[in-house]
Amino acid sequence: MITPNLFYADLKDSYLFYNIAQKTKAYLSTHPDAHLYRMGIGDVSLPLCDVVIQKLHEAVDDQAKSETFHGYMPECGAPELREAISDYYKNRGVKLSPEEVFVSSGASDELGDILDLFSRDNTSLVIEPAYPAYVDANIMGGRKIVHVPSSIENGFLPKPDESINADVIYICSPNNPTGAVFDRNKLKAWIDYANNKGSIILFDAAYEAFIEDETLPHSIFEIDGARTCAIEICSLSKTAGFTGTRLGYTIIPKELERKGMNFNSMWVRNRTTKTNGVSYIIQKCATAVFTPEGQKQIHDNIKIYKNNAACLMKILDELGVWYCGGKNAPYIWMKCPDGLTSWEFFDLLLNEIQVVGTPGQGFGECGEGYFRFSTFGNPEDTKIAAERIKNLLKK
Ligand code: PLP
Repeated sequence: MITPNLFYADLKDSYLFYNIAQKTKAYLSTHPDAHLYRMGIGDVSLPLCDVVIQKLHEAVDDQAKSETFHGYMPECGAPELREAISDYYKNRGVKLSPEEVFVSSGASDELGDILDLFSRDNTSLVIEPAYPAYVDANIMGGRKIVHVPSSIENGFLPKPDESINADVIYICSPNNPTGAVFDRNKLKAWIDYANNKGSIILFDAAYEAFIEDETLPHSIFEIDGARTCAIEICSLSKTAGFTGTRLGYTIIPKELERKGMNFNSMWVRNRTTKTNGVSYIIQKCATAVFTPEGQKQIHDNIKIYKNNAACLMKILDELGVWYCGGKNAPYIWMKCPDGLTSWEFFDLLLNEIQVVGTPGQGFGECGEGYFRFSTFGNPEDTKIAAERIKNLLKK
């Protein structure tokens, strides 16, 4: 009889979003006319910008005519898009060749698939609170995990600890859920640690476009030493509203090698075996994101989310509540008031003011006592929610 991947039995059920859905459903069943202010979702609410929609239409029409029809695309990405992404990095002073850019269907897909490059005997280090997929993808692969908690004392940006040995290191900056961002020195410390230990950093830059403080790095490759120890995984999901359209990209420098094996070449081999590329239609509209007009339009949308963040940050400042994030990230991570647990605070917000957020405990035990607000919601709802939070916490 076939043996399933028994590591799946080690996965903990993800109660976080299930519990949130159950609790909101229960509330609505007893308050059918209530309007909920949903500040928990990690999904975007604004539609795709005009240049992207225009290219989508064009690409659909291309597929209707034999002269412009496209079948299989190159597995690692359309050359124009790989070039456009390498130019995007160049504008920030990061030199990449288009062959170091791999187009993907999104960061989640890549975060799971990329583990194919590493032996199962490796240990993965996850800084918590963390995006839950990091831990689960490693459990599915039967890998050992070192959980590194972060805290208010280090601003949720821990330093590497030389006494810990890890092979694969996850760094998410700007962070989901905390919104904290590693500055250049703090990131350099992890790069030095990884180069010393021979480890590889998986740098999740899904929220880089939200950084507004010019001194903060958008890419790990802005820092010396990263080309010999890092892979960067990025996505247009939050940057350009591609959550339902699906496109991401992964950067693997050509000099990234361990034990005589080259990770860029290995990933080419992997992609040419395991995918047939991202669709022509989606790659064509993704290329439009990297044009000057595309950049302007996506940043106009990001500004709307940033205004949501500003509105929430203002009331938290007025109340004197501790939080991080919001300025350079679409998430605000606040300390629950009066020593409430994160689920107690969730219940209070739902029952008293009909605001739905995300309890920090769902991102790892060290998230207990904290709460995440997403700023991807509708501006009107965010304003009302902020006002309601203010009135509730003022009491
Ligand atoms: N990485 C982080 C930190 C995320 O928060 C998300 C989505 O919420 C992803 C990756 C996944 O992005 P994608 O939609 O490209 O799969």
